[in-house]
Amino acid sequence: MSETILRLAAAAALAGGTLACAPGGESAPESRPATAGFCSDVPRSQYAALERVEVADDWFEVYRVAPAVYAIHEPFQFQEVISYLILGEEGALLFDTGMGIGRIRTVVDELTALPVTVLNSHTHMDHVGGNAEFERVLAMDTEFTRTHARGRTNAEVRGEVAPSALCRALPAGITEDNYHTPPFEVAAFIDDGHRIDLGGRTLEVLAVPGHAPDAVVLLDREAGFLWTGDAFYEGPIWLFAPETDLEAYRTSVARLAELVPELTTLFTAHNTPVAQPSRLLELNDAVEAMFEGIAVGNRLQDGGVEFVFEGFSIILRLDQL
Ligand SMILES: [Zn+2]
Repeated sequence: MSETILRLAAAAALAGGTLACAPGGESAPESRPATAGFCSDVPRSQYAALERVEVADDWFEVYRVAPAVYAIHEPFQFQEVISYLILGEEGALLFDTGMGIGRIRTVVDELTALPVTVLNSHTHMDHVGGNAEFERVLAMDTEFTRTHARGRTNAEVRGEVAPSALCRALPAGITEDNYHTPPFEVAAFIDDGHRIDLGGRTLEVLAVPGHAPDAVVLLDREAGFLWTGDAFYEGPIWLFAPETDLEAYRTSVARLAELVPELTTLFTAHNTPVAQPSRLLELNDAVEAMFEGIAVGNRLQDGGVEFVFEGFSIILRLDQL
């Protein structure tokens, strides 16, 4: 254990408090129970200012967050995950496929007739649930990704559809006993720097390992748009999974901060879709403050530690300190 991390532990221990939004006791995001009371806050206030697009399936809420960019939100499950459909002139990219509770393919088919390619911000279960509904899935060339392409059993993910995880009834056909993450076929493995040409719009894939080994962000340089996945969103950022690599996250966040001068908008994967690029500078400062032992963490009831910053927080496990 490095001296830096020991200082971090000392800072965490000093604070000692607990927060109202303490998460449950599991270390894997997949099995974390819902934060009590989230239903009264969804959809969050930011959505009122966004352009809503009606779709038939009311499990999802769809918002046009930029020209030819749709946020496909699942507000009634505690992850409040957001997938994005990005249209070009000749093709569309679906960045994440959500929980696999509602059928996202139906929503996508309502929004576009273009051929759709899927790419995941990373392969945690709340981002790959609908992958199996699509023929063309790109994936990062990592062992972590290959493992998760095999899907997840009901036992692994049933907590995601427990009554305490939901704000409304499950869609027809999905139950606590049959819900699982279907395996999916990978059409092509890609690496850092891969470009996706949609016709009139090119997206660059940048590897940002840390939260997960196969984490990527998506960059539209011309528009200045960056889709951040779980590398950043305005909420508690979970960095406590066994596969999380804090040193890698630090490096990735520094890389993201360098992009800020050319960005106009961040599109994030949980809670609310739109964030200011300057948040990435704040995130970089926050992560550096954590590593330098300047940031003070609050002990959570489950043994986690939350470092609270303006507009977001970072949650670690005590044994990572
Ligand atoms: Zn994740």
